[in-house]
Amino acid sequence: MLTQVADGVWVRQSAWVWTNSIVVRGDAGVILVDPGIDGSELDQLADDLDRLGIPVVAGFSTHPHWDHLLWHSRFGDVPRYATPAGAQAATQARERAQAMAAESASGIPLELIGLVTPLPPDGDPVPGEILEHEAHAIGHAAVLLADRGVMLAGDMLSDVLIPLLDDRRRDQVGAYETALDRLGEAARHVDVVVPGHGAVAEGPEVAARLGADRAYIDALRRGEEPVDERLAAADWLSGPHQSNLNQARGR
Ligand SMILES: [Zn+2]
Repeated sequence: MLTQVADGVWVRQSAWVWTNSIVVRGDAGVILVDPGIDGSELDQLADDLDRLGIPVVAGFSTHPHWDHLLWHSRFGDVPRYATPAGAQAATQARERAQAMAAESASGIPLELIGLVTPLPPDGDPVPGEILEHEAHAIGHAAVLLADRGVMLAGDMLSDVLIPLLDDRRRDQVGAYETALDRLGEAARHVDVVVPGHGAVAEGPEVAARLGADRAYIDALRRGEEPVDERLAAADWLSGPHQSNLNQARGR
């Protein structure tokens, strides 16, 4: 089921790690951001889009991780975009993404994974402003829809996931600090944030999300063990959390 969260912005949440598929109305039709996860859910999303009655004109992947690179034939053979760095990484990691998708979820059209192309420099096919940064994944981008008071945050500002540092790159603590500054600035123009995973944040919750991610990163910066409610809520995060600590201490 699609839930409208702002003018021309709808969200459908998957049971798999509360993943949000996002539908954004543009001039010529809708843009589908990070659709997921299971094949049956993608099929239901296609039904939802049929009911909405607006054609899909493009896709956008916020970053090159498998759960943000999915597609279904019913969405149509339209261009699927990412930042240039994200598109390059997605192409290189395509086989790995297919293997991870096959392992993690069912019924995913594996042949459609990761077929993304670089967004043109003017960003024209995707409404709003693309906020690219270096945190979490290469070529990661948030989408700021300032005129609708909405930001699509990708895998940042979640109420269920802690910041997940990219363990293959150096100085992710610094990358998160810079990215959170940028998203914090953008958040002054919004009252709705849609994270890649978790509940949509509205009103004062937006600042709370920024505060939670900042507190986690600040603790890493100080060389301390972050205290974070999200860790208590999902024990499988202890692995990624430990890897964050290792990276922060080994910098
Ligand atoms: Zn994700």
